[in-house]
Amino acid sequence: MNKYIPKRILEIEEYTPVNEAYEIRLDTNENPLPPSLEAIESLTAALRTVPLNRYPDPLARKLNKAFAEAYNTSEEYITAGNGSDELISVILNMFLRPEDTIAVTAPDFSMYAFYAGLIGCNIIKTGKDCCGEIDFDLLSETVNKNNCKVVVFSNPCNPTGLAYDRETIIKFYRSVDCIVIVDEAYMEFCRDGCSVLDLCGKEERLIVLKTLSKAYSAAGLRIGFSVSHPDVASAVRRVKSPYNLNMFSQAAGEILLSDYETVFCGAKIIAERTQRLRNILEREAGRSEKYKVYKSDTNFILLSFACEKCADNIYEGLKKKSIIIRRPNNTHLRITCGTEEENEIFIREFIRLLGE
Ligand code: PMP
Repeated sequence: MNKYIPKRILEIEEYTPVNEAYEIRLDTNENPLPPSLEAIESLTAALRTVPLNRYPDPLARKLNKAFAEAYNTSEEYITAGNGSDELISVILNMFLRPEDTIAVTAPDFSMYAFYAGLIGCNIIKTGKDCCGEIDFDLLSETVNKNNCKVVVFSNPCNPTGLAYDRETIIKFYRSVDCIVIVDEAYMEFCRDGCSVLDLCGKEERLIVLKTLSKAYSAAGLRIGFSVSHPDVASAVRRVKSPYNLNMFSQAAGEILLSDYETVFCGAKIIAERTQRLRNILEREAGRSEKYKVYKSDTNFILLSFACEKCADNIYEGLKKKSIIIRRPNNTHLRITCGTEEENEIFIREFIRLLGE
């Protein structure tokens, strides 16, 4: 059968989600808590009233309106998607053909290169320095020299946790002449002054991606947004599948977004908790001299180990205690901030394993 399947597809590794049950999940950068009880009650009530026999609104207008209100932007700039994952795929397919080139930074969210790979276009990965920082001058030079059609990166970055001020992003944007996609999935956890979402619509080539999977505690609903110039938004709407976002998610997303102030407060609490976790990890890094802790402007923390075996020992040892974290590569571990209780259990086991 495989002879009928294109080679480039056979070469793709299948996505293998964590399928064992772990008691403590600190691996996917989600919010450790579900939406508030009031929100859940409203969601339940909404489920009773949505006309499930009908197709959903292809333009998700009410949802977009709620997003526009929460983020002080305009509905005409917004396209809702089945998670921002879907929008990454749709947008890259819209702008790129196999003969084109895209620039991504490395490491960054893997889906950018994944979807670009499916298109078969040329992918240039510009590295980061040993502290995980993007060299924006180098990125700009790379984009211009290679005539890239698109450049995409996350701010704050997954997996480094680092964020850049808006001035840096704007300067970079002005230094290139292509589509610039800034994925602000984690911006609610970040310090002020980093988002460029307010420029979407005014700056023609700028697209900001958002998701309700992180601060909004709604990864299970699969709701993402792209915010862009109205011409780009209209083009995205033309190429996406018409009923990409189901009726229940649209109704639920609207409810969650209407309570954005609570969500923003909750995100700040998680950000503070992440810093407390980071302080402990940094203290232990000083004592053990086995790893380095990245700064974090998000709800997760990246650790870099000098020794692969040590990272492995901690990762596997935590799994045995039913705690799962993320291992982006052999020498790095990424820990999502959990509840206070989960963090305490994690730290206890981490310190124990570090001493082994
Ligand atoms: N962007 C970044 C930077 C992410 O880390 C993730 C999820 N890990 C996503 C997008 C995907 O978001 P969604 O759940 O909306 O598809």
